[in-house]
Amino acid sequence: MSDFNAFYDAIVAVVGTRASGVKVVDDAVSLMLDVSGLNADDRVQIEADVREAAERAGAQSVRIMLTAERITPRLIAVASGKGGVGKSTLSTNLAIAMARAGRSVGLVDADIYGPSQPRLMGVEGVRPEAEGKMMIPVMGAGGVPFLSMGQLVKPGQAVAWRGPMAGNALSQLVDAKWGNVRDIVVDLPPGTGDIQLSMIQKHKPVGAVIISTPQDLALIDAMRAINFFDTAKVPIIGLVENMAGYLCPHCGEMSDPFGSGGAEAAAIELGIPFLGRIPLDIKIRMASDAGTPPALGDGAISDAYAAIAHKVAAWIDLPKDSPA
Ligand code: ADP
Repeated sequence: MSDFNAFYDAIVAVVGTRASGVKVVDDAVSLMLDVSGLNADDRVQIEADVREAAERAGAQSVRIMLTAERITPRLIAVASGKGGVGKSTLSTNLAIAMARAGRSVGLVDADIYGPSQPRLMGVEGVRPEAEGKMMIPVMGAGGVPFLSMGQLVKPGQAVAWRGPMAGNALSQLVDAKWGNVRDIVVDLPPGTGDIQLSMIQKHKPVGAVIISTPQDLALIDAMRAINFFDTAKVPIIGLVENMAGYLCPHCGEMSDPFGSGGAEAAAIELGIPFLGRIPLDIKIRMASDAGTPPALGDGAISDAYAAIAHKVAAWIDLPKDSPA
């Protein structure tokens, strides 16, 4: 994994968010390069600069696909019925797992009550720059560009936006200089408030991922979120069960503090896809707090996020005029 980061950092240092979909297999690097707005000479130059940066970082081969298409990113909403169920953690790791699969993905932290992405993405205190009136996303863990509500206010200042103010703040994050980012994962606040309404009215997401813990009470709240998106005609991509099954690090015994399987049963009952289950594991909390999201690593947890990312990616790639 350190290889990916080394390559990514080298490339981003040269071209910022113009690079996306960086993929590293052994020492072969491939990526997309947004050359929109550049003349022919500058395009040749920027491509050469990226190639040189990747080779200096140790790449044996570098494949660059140029694109000049103005891309309007598709938004993937990540929502929960209530706070504390792991929505922000899922959003971060979903975006990173999608990026690791070679997709050009960004992350928006729209949680006005507790924006946590700067910490989770390992870049707390880094302020985004702007070009004209547009913000330039900050590069976070795993090479995922992101913007957060937390970056619109002074550090430590509470955000108390309501109605149109909340909507304008969301628009600033979504209508930013995303380069050729194709998909943006949007970490919504819990529940069904102003940000959700504004998201649906102004920036209709292609679909929503709902996360819940397995117990009945949490699922009742999740159901409310599902109904909200249903009513707004935003398709539900599926349901994720978080904090299911606790593996005791001391005795190795598996227990189910919040039960297990409740979300899967609920998904079946509602006729929506079940996207996967993430265990309750202290390593997830610790890695998240340290700004090194578990999806960056290898092993069972990273695989679980990768499997969810795969299902989400497959869903958004389906032609939308056919029933999903
Ligand atoms: P939300 O966005 O729903 O409020 P967070 O993603 O901030 O929730 O998660 C709440 C807390 O639970 C954080 O400390 C996070 O690190 C932790 N957490 C989330 N998912 C897991 C998990 N599967 N195992 C252990 N801790 C988790």
